[in-house]
Amino acid sequence: MRSRHSATDSARMARRRIVVRVANIALWTGVLFVPVLFGEQGRGDAPANPAPNPAPAPASPSGESAGPGARAGGRGPAGTIVRGPNGEMWGYSDSAFNEGSKWRIHDADRPQPSLVTPAGPLTTLPPSDAIVLFDGKDLSAWVTRGRGSATPTPPEWAVHDGYFESGPGGGISTKESFGDVQLHLEFATPATVDGSSQSRGNSGVIFMGRYEIQVLDSYDNRTYADGMAASIYGEWPPLVNAARKPGEWQSYDIIFEAPRFTGRPSPGYFTVLWNGVMVHNRQQLLGPTAAIMTPHRYVAHDSELPLYLQQHGNRVRYRNMWIRRL
Ligand code: MG
Repeated sequence: MRSRHSATDSARMARRRIVVRVANIALWTGVLFVPVLFGEQGRGDAPANPAPNPAPAPASPSGESAGPGARAGGRGPAGTIVRGPNGEMWGYSDSAFNEGSKWRIHDADRPQPSLVTPAGPLTTLPPSDAIVLFDGKDLSAWVTRGRGSATPTPPEWAVHDGYFESGPGGGISTKESFGDVQLHLEFATPATVDGSSQSRGNSGVIFMGRYEIQVLDSYDNRTYADGMAASIYGEWPPLVNAARKPGEWQSYDIIFEAPRFTGRPSPGYFTVLWNGVMVHNRQQLLGPTAAIMTPHRYVAHDSELPLYLQQHGNRVRYRNMWIRRL
């Protein structure tokens, strides 16, 4: 009897283990792929999407149009804008939460990262195996892609002596596609301060056309913490605010681990140095960075896609940009 009981118990336990394993697999794939089935992708903080998916609508240059966008989509609370004493936009109240976050998306109350004065930008020159995206002379590595399947055209952004400037014609994307990368770039927001919050020196470095590291003038310019410079937009503020003054050159060194949708699914990760200061230490990416208030959720895409630079209505300068595949 004893041995029969043991055999039955063993069989039961084995069945239980299988059930648990199947449940784990279902949970993982569900996290990554249920949104695919239900089409819950948020709109990016801008890009005309270079991916095969339908292109999302561009964000308003003011960056304050998230509410109406969310309502139009019927996808949850849009949030109420919270303003500072001079009408500047500080963020939102009663917006949705990203999964696992104790802060609402663009939460006006999310703490502002403490200030660190950097020694200056890193101005690292490209190593021998880097793909140079801008060498100070031309934008030959870049194109402008219209919506959907529009034929790529040369960028209209102006190239000056040693730098280029975000400008007309919408955002630009690399001709080449990338997955896991190390990226170096230098940028400068306009020396003349104009506007506030998200309207001041806004651009963005958008990996795979979906995952934005924010570019913004964050020198004495309050905005929601998860939308300031070097934030993983709408998800994670930088660990500290290492901003330099408007008009001064700054640097980003970014390690991006792309999400995996085949084989063993995995989220993406960002590691970011801002002016040589660590501001994200392999931070998990929650999904496409969105300009609307719905929780960010992954939607499966190709393993390599172009890098995208955002045009957000402000003239932001870039120089010394190179990338390495990892
Ligand atoms: Mg931006």
